[in-house]
Amino acid sequence: MNESVVADRIGASHVGASSFPRVRLDVLRVGHCRHPECMAIRGGAWRVVDFPNLVGLIRHPAAGALLFDTGYAEHFVRATDRFPERLYRWTTPVVLPTEECLQAQLARRGIAMHEVRTVFASHLHGDHIAGLRDLPNAEVWCGDDALRLLRDGSRIGLLRRAYLPTLLPDDFERRYRRIEDAPSRALPARWSALGAGRELIGDGSLWAVPLPGHARGHYGLLLRHDDDREWLLVGDAVWRQSEIREHRAPAWPTRWLIDDAAAHRDTRARLHRVFADAQRAGDDGIALLPSHCPHSYDALPASMREAVGAAHSARAA
Ligand SMILES: [Zn+2]
Repeated sequence: MNESVVADRIGASHVGASSFPRVRLDVLRVGHCRHPECMAIRGGAWRVVDFPNLVGLIRHPAAGALLFDTGYAEHFVRATDRFPERLYRWTTPVVLPTEECLQAQLARRGIAMHEVRTVFASHLHGDHIAGLRDLPNAEVWCGDDALRLLRDGSRIGLLRRAYLPTLLPDDFERRYRRIEDAPSRALPARWSALGAGRELIGDGSLWAVPLPGHARGHYGLLLRHDDDREWLLVGDAVWRQSEIREHRAPAWPTRWLIDDAAAHRDTRARLHRVFADAQRAGDDGIALLPSHCPHSYDALPASMREAVGAAHSARAA
């Protein structure tokens, strides 16, 4: 049975799918880090691998171009030029080739940076918001707790937790949209193990899903892609797909960043339940995408990646 037939069958049998409008999702690799695999993946090898910094480009018929996070940008390099911030860059050596820059990738799809109308920030770690200053017309959705931490924290205290407040644009207060101000509603049925979500733009197509633990005020974004599959962009709630599928704990070096260990475990357990329930039901109509998982990126349908991303993966393999 081909993929679209399976998706149609599942979509038809799934109550509520008709009220979950489709949008188009592209996944962009906006820079990457190079680490020994075992630094981020429990049981991984010592060989150095690329960990992508993934950004979701969502095209909505009425709301235009939206982004899930921004990935890396030159601003990250500038923000980590001096000590003590330079330590952040040493810990996560960033690679940002010209063809992976957000501007270049959007341009290849006919979108200018000033045309991006909305950024949904999963959380405010530097590697997820470094490009905000390059998107002058975008309103920025983020969690209240995430922003409060940035406003109240000390320079060193924030740096130790991978925050770089200078990455926030000067007019951020004007552009800021509080996720908690969006209406709270039950998530589409397949995702009920994750509780309620925030319905962001009023037509049921984009849902902020609380996935606490990794960072203060951390959210995922749920949508229904053109292929009828329901995609949850999980941000950094987990680092690797296997943490969800096999309910595995993350590698120790990534654990020091975790804001709330109990909440992190609970989030991982609930994501696993969603995955396991779908698997038991033979339902392949869902997908979960962590922001830095190289295997998830390589497994994406070619239609959701661009040619340059595919070429990189082919070279790495
Ligand atoms: Zn993070």
